[in-house]
Amino acid sequence: MGCALEVPAVAMPRVLGRAGRSGGPTLVVTAGIHGNEPAGVRSAERVLAALHSRGTPLAGELVVLVGNRAALARDARFLDEDLNRLWTAERLAALRTRPSAHDHAEEREQRELAAELEPLLAREGVTLLDLHSTSGDGPPFALAGDTLQNRRVACALQVPFLLGLEETVRGTLVEHVGALGHVAIVVEGGQSRDPRTAELLESALWVTLVSSGVASKGDLPEFELHRERLRSAARGLPAVIEVSHRHEIAPEDERRFEMLPGLVGFARVERGTLLAHYGGGRERPVHAPFSGLLLLPRYQSQGRDGFFLGTSVSSVWLVLSAALRRLHLERLLGRLPGVRVEERAGHSLTIDRRIARFFAAELFHLLGYRRREEHGHALVVSRRNDRL
Ligand SMILES: [Zn+2]
Repeated sequence: MGCALEVPAVAMPRVLGRAGRSGGPTLVVTAGIHGNEPAGVRSAERVLAALHSRGTPLAGELVVLVGNRAALARDARFLDEDLNRLWTAERLAALRTRPSAHDHAEEREQRELAAELEPLLAREGVTLLDLHSTSGDGPPFALAGDTLQNRRVACALQVPFLLGLEETVRGTLVEHVGALGHVAIVVEGGQSRDPRTAELLESALWVTLVSSGVASKGDLPEFELHRERLRSAARGLPAVIEVSHRHEIAPEDERRFEMLPGLVGFARVERGTLLAHYGGGRERPVHAPFSGLLLLPRYQSQGRDGFFLGTSVSSVWLVLSAALRRLHLERLLGRLPGVRVEERAGHSLTIDRRIARFFAAELFHLLGYRRREEHGHALVVSRRNDRL
């Protein structure tokens, strides 16, 4: 049998399992969206087995879907294209109109996954928990768009919560599900081959069963143990981090990019620190563009995300921004000079940065907007869907 994390070469079912009943809140768990991250699948199997063997009463339904089945069978992050970059409106529309015979490996996965997700996402009260693990060492953390409902579910995990990643990466599954108005968060459990990672992801799943309303704390005998396991794995780390830089690897450089050995997620790096290079030699070094926390350093050979940098966000900012959003102060933004309201009911704004240079991006973040596009002086921001 070998190592407990090993995934059998036989493809797994798309629906790994279900528990509970429809009609209440729904927790959709996706595991193995990246095929070299089997720990999520293992953790979900354990939770499903425990729920079934104990006959735990549930107020709603848990549905676990397997992501990239073909890549999981080959222990590769992906075969043709990253499955977690395909969930843009354009790609989904193209998938619907194109015959399936033209699909590449991940488009096939996406087509099947979308077919399972569609009826689930038509429900009310859906939470998506997308389970991942990292190629480099580091503690567990959560990532999500900064909506108030995402904050609630992410904060229940008591691990660092990373905001703003969706401004640097497009086409993730959580972005797609979040844009439909649902709660949608990613949990990264730690290093992919570390046996503790499946345990931490399992704990995240138990805690989210409760925060999504599917299970009640009193029916889960080990609930506090799981909370404590997450809390202690993240001890001493900032509660909230804004991701503000992504080192993007050009497609032709995907296999030439190399992080310096031994860098760990959440390590503090100073501006100018050598972090990576291309091609093994001293040519084309990559330095930290500013001082901050190193996030998701890439220690595998696939994908175009080299690393991210973030800075910790003060708790005052979080409280203030929640209060401002509840007051709907964004309605006043259209009156500011250099700010034009686009589309439906202030959902999207175009900001002329020559005129509105006094309003830092932070103001728009504070009110729940995120950067979408930049054309010369024009910055387009759109509002995240808070459910208040
Ligand atoms: Zn992943």
